[in-house]
Formats: sequence, C-alpha cells, structure tokens
Amino acid sequence: MSKLKRVVKMPVQFAKETSFAPEIRKILEHLVNDPDREGLARTPERVEKALRFLTSGYRMDLRRVVNDALFRVKYDEMVIVKDIEFFSMCEHHLLPFFGKVHVAYLPKGHVIGLSKIPRIVDVFARRLQIQERMTQEIAQTIKTMIDPAGVGVICEARHFCMMMRGVEKQHSGAVTSAMLGEFRSRKSTRDEFLALTGHSPG
Ligand SMILES: [Zn+2]
Repeated sequence: MSKLKRVVKMPVQFAKETSFAPEIRKILEHLVNDPDREGLARTPERVEKALRFLTSGYRMDLRRVVNDALFRVKYDEMVIVKDIEFFSMCEHHLLPFFGKVHVAYLPKGHVIGLSKIPRIVDVFARRLQIQERMTQEIAQTIKTMIDPAGVGVICEARHFCMMMRGVEKQHSGAVTSAMLGEFRSRKSTRDEFLALTGHSPG
C-alpha cells in the first residue's frame, strides 16, 4: 500500500437504525406535566434527528472524508490551520461544548489538503466526547495519515454543562492540547505554534 493510501483506518460504527423518538417522549413525561401540548408534539422526532446529526461522526469514514487529498511535497515548514469552529457534545451530560481548534504540523514528505482539516475535526466533534480525547484523536489522525515530523493541536472550548448548571463557572472555558513528535520534543517548534495561535509559551 502506497504511503499516500495509508490513511488511518477507523472502525465505522453503525448505531441501531430503529427510531428512539418513543424514548424521548418518555423522557418528556418525566420532565413536564403536559407532554401532549402542541409545541412538544413533534419534539421527540426533532430531538432524535438532532441527536443523530450531532453523533454522525461515528458513521463517517475518515478515508472518504479526506478523499485522497494527501499530496507529496518538498515543503517542510509548519502548516497551520487556525480557528476551526467546532460543536460537540459532552459525554457526561449530553450537553454541548463548542469553541475553536488550531491544528499545525511539520510535513515530512506529505501534506493534507487544507480544507480537509476542518472536516477531520468534525468527524471527532460529532460524537459524544470529552475535550481532551477529541484533541488527541485529531492529532493522532493527522499523524497516522501523513506521518509528519510533528503535530500540534490546541482546543479552546466552553462547556454548557458548566455554564448552564451554575457550577464552576470560572472554569467554563477550557484549553487542551496534544503535542506529538517535534511539537513535543522541540520547544522552539511548540513555542512558534503557541505564539501563532495567541497562547503564551509555557
Ligand atoms: Zn459535561
């Protein structure tokens, strides 16, 4: 298998295709005393549709997402894609967390089409997640796909489970990072990435 074809293999998980709208309706019965009112009548179906979309990353095939947009290059300077918006769902509360992801890597013979990086982010954001794992998964995927000299991913997010429930509001903004290869071993590389994304090198 050529290096270009050596794209990360992800288990494509297919959830049960039967409707779970009746279960959403049961949840509504626990929450309100008039689950039959007009405004709630079609809510179970809408919630099901929304949840299926918000977890559609489980059913995406990374190879198709990237669609062979891996290119051979001589370029070996840092590639950086900043401010990639994402929306995800915290797996502890099924509430949204959202923010920005910054991705950088040092090519070692191959690059990924720039427009594919936000799509890789979506594959992992549209799952039940914790921010730390999502950050690692994005970095590991790029490492596996193009075997660069290093990968750095920074994720800045705000969590509804903290903001809405009135707990730990001061920590509602969280920053996570994954530094692989030269982003881990070379301080100057890491510092360049941090500076380019508005973070002070630590
Ligand atoms: Zn949560």
